[in-house]
Amino acid sequence: MSAASPLRSGAASKDARRPARNLWQVDLRELGRRAGSMRELDRSVPAPDHWRVELIGVPAGADVHLRLRLESVMEGVLVSGDIEVPLTGSCARCLEPIEDTLTLAVQELYAYEGSTTEATSEEDEVRRIEGDHLDLEPLVRDTVVLALPLAPVCAEDCAGLCVDCGQRLDDLPADHAHEIVDARWADLAAKFGTDAPTSSPGAPGESPTTEEN
Ligand SMILES: [Zn+2]
Ligand SMILES: [Zn+2]
Repeated sequence: MSAASPLRSGAASKDARRPARNLWQVDLRELGRRAGSMRELDRSVPAPDHWRVELIGVPAGADVHLRLRLESVMEGVLVSGDIEVPLTGSCARCLEPIEDTLTLAVQELYAYEGSTTEATSEEDEVRRIEGDHLDLEPLVRDTVVLALPLAPVCAEDCAGLCVDCGQRLDDLPADHAHEIVDARWADLAAKFGTDAPTSSPGAPGESPTTEEN
């Protein structure tokens, strides 16, 4: 025997952990191809960039928690379980910041190369196993992004913003209202020869040369 390669020596390989291990990749060699064999997977993986829609998304680098079961079936590997992701965004009605957690169920078949499922489905219709690995990232990304609300709300009954002053209605007293200056007041005032009510701010028709300026 020639000198052992340092990569093969037990002590060295333990220390030489691959620095950039892709946690979205699952090594299927432990699972094996015997139908019925099963493996649980419970891990947290940092979220990549761009998992978001307009108002809400998963912060880049936040923990995506995967609790999955991988089962070897005839055609490939069935992945099922749930995904938990933190969300940050803003309310579509009142623009308050939102923090939330989304929990989603997944169930997906990854087909073996050369399986009937692979042969009888379109390229983008089925997820595939590549060699000894299965990539969870596209499945999780699609599941999460499709579940993101287009109009997230801070609370189901969020009343939104006051159309007159732009303040958040839930922060204002229930009787919050603005004095509506009606053009008819000005007409009446003219008819009875009195001045338009001077206490009402911003009444239309008043001279623009107010003392406020
Ligand atoms: Zn709101
Ligand atoms: Zn208001």
